[in-house]
Amino acid sequence: MTDMEKLFAEVEALRPFMVETLSRLVEIPAVSPLDGGQGEAAKAAWLSDLIEELDLGKIGRYDAPDDDAPGGFRPNLVLSVAGGRAVGRLALVTHLDVVPEGNRALWETDPFKAVVREGRIYGRGSCDNGQELTASLCAALALKKAGLTPSREVLLCFVADEERGSTKGIRHLLKEGFFRSDDLVVVPDGGNEKGDFIEVAEKSVLWLQFRVKGRQVHASRPDLGLNACRVANAFAVELDGALHRVFPDVDDLFIPSRSTFEPTKRLLNVANVNTVPGEEVFCIDCRVLPAVSLDEVLKVIKVIMTETERKTGATIGLEVLERSDAAAPTPAEAPVVTALSEALREVYRFEPLVGGIGGATCAACFRQAGIPAVVWAQEAECAHMPNEYAVIDHLVSEAKVFALLMARP
Ligand SMILES: [Zn+2]
Repeated sequence: MTDMEKLFAEVEALRPFMVETLSRLVEIPAVSPLDGGQGEAAKAAWLSDLIEELDLGKIGRYDAPDDDAPGGFRPNLVLSVAGGRAVGRLALVTHLDVVPEGNRALWETDPFKAVVREGRIYGRGSCDNGQELTASLCAALALKKAGLTPSREVLLCFVADEERGSTKGIRHLLKEGFFRSDDLVVVPDGGNEKGDFIEVAEKSVLWLQFRVKGRQVHASRPDLGLNACRVANAFAVELDGALHRVFPDVDDLFIPSRSTFEPTKRLLNVANVNTVPGEEVFCIDCRVLPAVSLDEVLKVIKVIMTETERKTGATIGLEVLERSDAAAPTPAEAPVVTALSEALREVYRFEPLVGGIGGATCAACFRQAGIPAVVWAQEAECAHMPNEYAVIDHLVSEAKVFALLMARP
């Protein structure tokens, strides 16, 4: 038996342990205090005890102060497994926190009671991000059981606060200067059911809200008012056309390959049919290719706003609800992309796709700090949904990928 066959056999043998571990994780809710939860302290304490019991390496604690959380902190754990002399360290970053269960009536089982059924584990956080947390931990355990030393130091980072902006989580660790530019960073927190997509780039995100003000009157006397609904409709169509016309750039790294500008939310204006609305509020969601500056996008929007105001007599207010300027993509030839691609070929026997998405994940924080990072996972598309589940076969395959990443030079 080769070392790698031995390693895979150890991963397979850990299947029941993985199911058990992920089930326990699901049963310790770790919802953000901002969403009415208790934070991640209890889950971190349980995980820390488990790691000690397994004797996998050194555990570091990097608590971020948080007055809203019980105990006044949010826990970040880093398990460091000593390795050989290969360049850089391998960091696998998963998050401890989960989103609230949402409407309980939509759940077929208790969201915080793990139910194992037909090859799946149901429960909140089973897929996002418990599956990958468990897979990374068990990969390190499999190496130990196979008597193998990682080729480089391995850092398993279990972080807080991913679902609410990461300031008490990965951003805290980055601010403390914990990571280095030659670290190989994998953020297994998003992917597809096949597991063949490596995300190396994200678009910029811009969420805008427009408030069009006219004059409200009875619908039988529109001549006395200024119909904000009509102005908003024409304005929205004008914006839509102009943005697509001015920013036609194509980058085949991304799916979709162009910038997107989508009219989305519209607030209720008047409750009855026979009133001309005096105010109309609507939003657009822009996902913009990194090569296009968001300032340029805003400039085009402002020209159309001013023009519409001049032509109609309405006033238009603009509020930026969210803005995230994309960092430079992780190069397709970065060591972390090469290493992950090789591991995927070996475990799944397919050629992975390398590309970009609409944004925005934890990996963006690394890229903004100048550290190349990739997002990869093999998971069902059920994060944040009722009846969230992890597929046990995916969990085991992910553990094999992580084990290979650790073992290979
Ligand atoms: Zn997640």
